[in-house]
Amino acid sequence: MLKVLVIGGGAAGMMAAISAKNHGADVTVLERNNRVGKKILATGNGRCNYTNINLSINNYHSKNPKFPYSCLSKFGVDKTMDFFEQLGITPAVEENGKVFPLSFQSSSILDVLRFELEDLGIEVITDAYVVDIRKEKNFVLTLNNKEKIYGDRVILATGGNAAPSTGSDGNGYALAQKLGHSIVEVFPGLVQLKLDGDLFNQVDGVKFIGTAGLYEGNKLIKEDRGDILFTNYGISGPPILQLSRAALEYLYRGKNVELKVSIIDTKTQEELYDYLIYRFSFMAKKTVGIGLIGLINKRLILPILKEMGIDKNKQIAHLTNEEVKKLSQVLTDWRFNIIGSKGWRDAQVTAGGVLTDEIDNSTMESKLIKGLFFAGEIIDVDGDCGGFNLQWAWSSGYISGRNAALK
Ligand SMILES: Cc1cc2nc3c(=O)[nH]c(=O)nc-3n(C[C@H](O)[C@H](O)[C@H](O)COP(=O)(O)OP(=O)(O)OC[C@H]3O[C@@H](n4cnc5c(N)ncnc54)[C@H](O)[C@@H]3O)c2cc1C
Repeated sequence: MLKVLVIGGGAAGMMAAISAKNHGADVTVLERNNRVGKKILATGNGRCNYTNINLSINNYHSKNPKFPYSCLSKFGVDKTMDFFEQLGITPAVEENGKVFPLSFQSSSILDVLRFELEDLGIEVITDAYVVDIRKEKNFVLTLNNKEKIYGDRVILATGGNAAPSTGSDGNGYALAQKLGHSIVEVFPGLVQLKLDGDLFNQVDGVKFIGTAGLYEGNKLIKEDRGDILFTNYGISGPPILQLSRAALEYLYRGKNVELKVSIIDTKTQEELYDYLIYRFSFMAKKTVGIGLIGLINKRLILPILKEMGIDKNKQIAHLTNEEVKKLSQVLTDWRFNIIGSKGWRDAQVTAGGVLTDEIDNSTMESKLIKGLFFAGEIIDVDGDCGGFNLQWAWSSGYISGRNAALK
């Protein structure tokens, strides 16, 4: 019987282990933490958005964007939902196709995976930090306590660099490099953005439903709508996370990108101008600071007026058309320079990773080292927010496990 060693007991590693065992291998999972699946508990705000019924290849990013297609088509959303349903997870489909366990507890996903590992008799060794990997006739792994572990096949599922407190701190890249693999430069994905400016302490905590767009000059790169939150460092919220990968990729390439924030996105700038003229027509005696109450979040009024150079105590009757135009512009199109992100600690996923050219996407086996397989976030594949990253972990985990078990 083939001995398959899975390095990393995260989503991808557990799925790979179950798949390898179900296809006839003798499997051991090596996990550096004192328990498996720590990151799963944090997913989906503790609810675990484990897949998405609207999945398409366009939800994935990589130097080779077609790379994930093979795994996703062989073990996709339906098979994943069936797999988890067999383990006891009743799916709940929420907005935008996001799928959660009906218990809305991420611990349910982790529990059923742990029970399955146990039921199948898969050996799980925790506190097992793999620090070295060599291929002689077979694979030789060295743990940080110097213990050696031997196997016929290895599945590298150590995750990326995001949320390092969960165990995935990028050390897996060094293991891949030891065996000759190349790493596509990594940077945080699905992360809050830091913006240039000194008004953020004043607007920290202000939330609104609006649109955020990413611009290189006048060219729209990507936009998204939903709950947006100003913070003391910049900006957060689901639309920002969705734009963050593209924003940071531009920044890392040394390009300038701007964030356009539309606090009011239900009117064009011209429509808002006409509306402000109408609105102000029955408020002539009020100050502009008071005249904006009820239109936008109160805490935004003073910072916006300051930014526009308009005195908050100016009577509306004395506002010039130019000033009303400025207001309609900033409320529909407020521009900020993006200067960075909150970093790895807050990132949900890693962009970049093991170069896909060196992996056979139909089996997930290394093209350089026979018997070495990859699964999950360690590979240069990352998905949008919405269940796509866990789906990649399940799909690549399943395919790598099945093929690692084949004689
Ligand atoms: C806060 C947060 C929320 C998220 N929410 C969602 C969501 O709702 N839906 C979604 O699809 N995705 C979500 N993601 C992303 C998703 O969780 C990850 O993409 C996915 O878990 C990656 O799985 P993985 O198994 O490849 O890596 P990981 O889950 O990172 O697992 C890697 C494992 O390997 C272990 N390890 C690392 N190095 C070694 C070593 N040398 N030796 C032994 N063990 C090692 C680590 O301790 C870890 O347990 C979220 C991520 C975060 C941080």
